[in-house]
Amino acid sequence: MKLTVIGCYSPFPKAGEATPGYLFEDHTGTKLLFDCGSGVASHIHKWINPKEVDAIILSHYHHDHVADVGVFQYAAYMALLNGSRSGPLTIYGPSLPPDKAEIRTYKDISVAKDIGQGQDIELGSCRFRFFQTDHQGPCYGWHVTDGRSSLVYGADSGPDTDWDHVPLRPDVLILESSFLEQNKRTGVKHLSAKEAALIAARLEAKHLVLTHFYPEVDPYQYVQEAKAFFSGKISAALMGFHLSLS
Ligand SMILES: [Zn+2]
Ligand SMILES: [Zn+2]
Repeated sequence: MKLTVIGCYSPFPKAGEATPGYLFEDHTGTKLLFDCGSGVASHIHKWINPKEVDAIILSHYHHDHVADVGVFQYAAYMALLNGSRSGPLTIYGPSLPPDKAEIRTYKDISVAKDIGQGQDIELGSCRFRFFQTDHQGPCYGWHVTDGRSSLVYGADSGPDTDWDHVPLRPDVLILESSFLEQNKRTGVKHLSAKEAALIAARLEAKHLVLTHFYPEVDPYQYVQEAKAFFSGKISAALMGFHLSLS
């Protein structure tokens, strides 16, 4: 399994950057996009052409996670017309709210598939299991394994997510870190870097990858805050950050 970060900022990107989007590839060459934020269709060209994406998995329908879905559908459309793509783009995401979930479907170019609590899907050589997070949506994170290593994508998450749905000791745990503790607002369904670190410690993660950074804060400040609460490896999910597992 390989993961490449395309975008890590929220709720809007820094100049020349993108909001959440992660390119995931398995050892069979299946190419998936985890979330599809603003700027992802442009920056993905540094690694692959947008038309090469086999499927997109959307955690929820907030703009910072879906802004570029329409242009990925256009890329698939053009590729189908000119014969450089053989099949439709599959877009996985929650079935709710129905008006937002509609964005997954475009003519016969993209096919919508639902994800839900505890659901398993096989994609390429990997098995995905979804869990609902404490976030407006609904919003789902996922645990993915190819039988050798494991990765958890926490999507957007408030502090009340039930992490018991996630197996212990993931090789990689990607968690949002929207705030430094000093900037945290009560009642907002996002995590601080400290809260992300405490979850990583509880799950005994081998490697915590922080993401979903406010664009006016230096990402390394989140890493510094997390270090006081988690003794494992911590990285910032900056554009181009790459992990090769298995
Ligand atoms: Zn959100
Ligand atoms: Zn978000």
